[in-house]
Amino acid sequence: MTKAKFSLKPLSKFSIASCAVICVTQGAVARDFSPPTYVSIIQQAVDRAYSHYKTVTDGENASYISYLAKANTKFYGIVVVTTDGAIFKAGDADYPFPIESIAKVFTLAHVMKIQGPKTVQNKIGVNATGLPFNSALAIELNHDKLTGSPPPGNPLVNAGAIATASLVDGKSLEEKWNMLLREASAFAGHPLTLNKDVYDSEMADNQHNLAIAVLLKSYKSLYADPTETIDLYTRECSYDVTAKDLAVMGATLANGGTNPLTHQAVTDAETSMRVLAVMATAGLYNTSGEWLYNVGLPAKSGVGGGIVAVVPGKMAIAVYSSPLDAAGNSVRGQLAIQSIAQDLGVNIFKIQMQK
Ligand code: GLU
Repeated sequence: MTKAKFSLKPLSKFSIASCAVICVTQGAVARDFSPPTYVSIIQQAVDRAYSHYKTVTDGENASYISYLAKANTKFYGIVVVTTDGAIFKAGDADYPFPIESIAKVFTLAHVMKIQGPKTVQNKIGVNATGLPFNSALAIELNHDKLTGSPPPGNPLVNAGAIATASLVDGKSLEEKWNMLLREASAFAGHPLTLNKDVYDSEMADNQHNLAIAVLLKSYKSLYADPTETIDLYTRECSYDVTAKDLAVMGATLANGGTNPLTHQAVTDAETSMRVLAVMATAGLYNTSGEWLYNVGLPAKSGVGGGIVAVVPGKMAIAVYSSPLDAAGNSVRGQLAIQSIAQDLGVNIFKIQMQK
């Protein structure tokens, strides 16, 4: 994907008032402290991450999709949306870019809501593959050729995501696509649209994903026609979002499935909880373990340069910056989220001591 050498390391110390730790980790963001206090702490953390990493030039655009290769690397935006509906921004928060792999989260949420968590586990799989995002080898290695069990994928890397797309209900490709786009739009709180240039660009270079679909079909782990499934999968990767959209979408999961801005119940609390668990296993491809170790938040990135991390019950943090590390994750995105999470003291593994 890219020759970029980058790996996330632990940050050495907290640097914003320790009050932020208490403010955001103990109970609801807005309820324990007066609004001006938490507002200034979160905005301060966002501004600090923005200015600190603004000049970072590590990483490279995804080169295997010609549209993404041409992305302007200077765009950089950060948005935090809380479950109370407060929004904090810095930089190019409203700049549109292709969602790419992050769409897998919302397709998974749709399929899980309709067909249930057991179907996802039994027909797709939920284990980390530990292999690159587009690995066909993962299918070969993880598939028991005699029993067909466990299923070979994880819904957040290509093979499993393609299997997930094949489970979307609908009489036609258009019906399935309209359903997925409607659902993603509900997560974002406004209508999202297909970026036709991205779709055309990806369809022209889609042989590898088609090969994955055909391989899955040969193992009876694809549940619809391979060509139609790849068309649907490619459309889901090709709608545009902004960092603000991603933060609202993530905050909807943080809020048990109810969009904190529109108050629409897009999905249910159990689906949100399980989708977040899958994000923790494979949201950052083959560096998901390092991410969880260093940041401790479920997250999902895409080769378009977006990344969103979720603090259950509290907020989502989203970043756009197109240069990627070797695994396919936004370099500045990872750095900025790590910095904000650390400043706010949010980590799902953090032990809350009762006084
Ligand atoms: N459309 C891209 C692909 O299938 C998505 C990859 C990603 O963002 O991980 O290769």
